[in-house]
Amino acid sequence: METRSIRGFHDVLPEEIKRWHHIEEEAKSVFELHGFSELRMPVLEFTEIFARSLGTTTDIVEKEMYTFQDRDGSSLTLRPEGTAGVVRAYIENSMWARSPVTKLYYTGMMFRHERPQKGRFRGFYQIGAELLGPEEPPSDAELIAMVWKLLEGIGITKYLKLELSSLGDDNCRPRYKEMLIAFFTPEKERLCEDCRRRLGTNPLRILDCKVKGCREIAARAPRMIDNLCGDCSRHLAEVRENLDSVGVPYVINPGIVRGLDYYTRTVFEITTEELGSQNAVAAGGRYDGLVEELGGPRTPAVGFAVGMERLILLHQMAFPGGFGREIRVFIAHMGEEARKKAFQLASELRGRGVATETDYGQKSLKSQLKRADKSGAGLTFIIGEDELNRGVVKVRNMSASTEEEMDFGSALELASQSD
Ligand code: ATP
Ligand code: MG
Repeated sequence: METRSIRGFHDVLPEEIKRWHHIEEEAKSVFELHGFSELRMPVLEFTEIFARSLGTTTDIVEKEMYTFQDRDGSSLTLRPEGTAGVVRAYIENSMWARSPVTKLYYTGMMFRHERPQKGRFRGFYQIGAELLGPEEPPSDAELIAMVWKLLEGIGITKYLKLELSSLGDDNCRPRYKEMLIAFFTPEKERLCEDCRRRLGTNPLRILDCKVKGCREIAARAPRMIDNLCGDCSRHLAEVRENLDSVGVPYVINPGIVRGLDYYTRTVFEITTEELGSQNAVAAGGRYDGLVEELGGPRTPAVGFAVGMERLILLHQMAFPGGFGREIRVFIAHMGEEARKKAFQLASELRGRGVATETDYGQKSLKSQLKRADKSGAGLTFIIGEDELNRGVVKVRNMSASTEEEMDFGSALELASQSD
């Protein structure tokens, strides 16, 4: 049997992990500035949680979920997204009873059975946040501004566009759906097979179809944003006002149709032209009905998710250098006694918070120095019998290519100072 991972799944290798840590830490610190706390939730939920949240006629539920039967016959699904699980946890733990505003974020792997390509995986990572409780437009604007701040913080906004729209609510959307049905019905024969079916099940989905013929017809369809009720239209205007007041740049794109049914009013996408057809980096919006739909009290909410792999691709473009681990000191040694001393010194340095590596065996000095070089260490300590007897160590500054003999105490001191 060939040893390999499952198609569409990938490893994040040590050479790249610093980049991941950097983005994850930036996200945590930005989210915490806004008062969000992390929620860790299971990767498996009852299938029903997703079917009821996302909608049974969405692409994810219809064809992308990893669903299987548990031993007791219940149907389980590997989470394809984070919001449904957050809402399930919010209800199950009665978080609504503790505070009128709940701010949660999560990071982790999501699973969707899609066709793998650059920036599209079957197992991929998302970072997301949900703001539950308020209905007022400043909450939408705060969340959107927070995502933008994160993307600014990691230095990739030059590649990005923030697109905003509104999908209306229970008041104006049903009327709009009727308009769509009236518009698409005469065109039915020219729609793709999926869209002909969507006309009966979920006409909004037609607006999101990737087939060229459908896109051309959809371009002439009535637009939700022109048919919002008074409340939705005021809501959108206030979200915009708030975003403008803090200088978040956005464009209105009436064509945004999110792939999940739970969205109401505000929707947004952050897109790029750098990643081919995978142009969405982050997406989100308001979902005022979902908590109630899953059995909780009526709780308006707004949230978003960013795709880590796509962020990483953009980060690599912006900062092409290596992003590996950081070793400060490499200790090379010659002779059995020196090896023991090196082991102790390494332990001492790590105790002082200095990342240190040493050789475990008795490799030649040449090969140890080669490893020191590759490790990226700023300093290399060299200890042989002679140095050991005199209580000193040769300290090589790797970037300046200088070498100096020091007693152990001074060498430890020097290594403990930051570069
Ligand atoms: P797309 O239109 O690219 O399929 P989506 O609308 O299905 O995206 P969302 O469900 O909104 O995506 O998820 C939010 C973000 O998660 C996306 O903007 C993207 O960055 C990322 N994402 C979604 N699906 C995948 C995937 N299969 N592989 C990698 N990243 C993904
Ligand atoms: Mg998708």
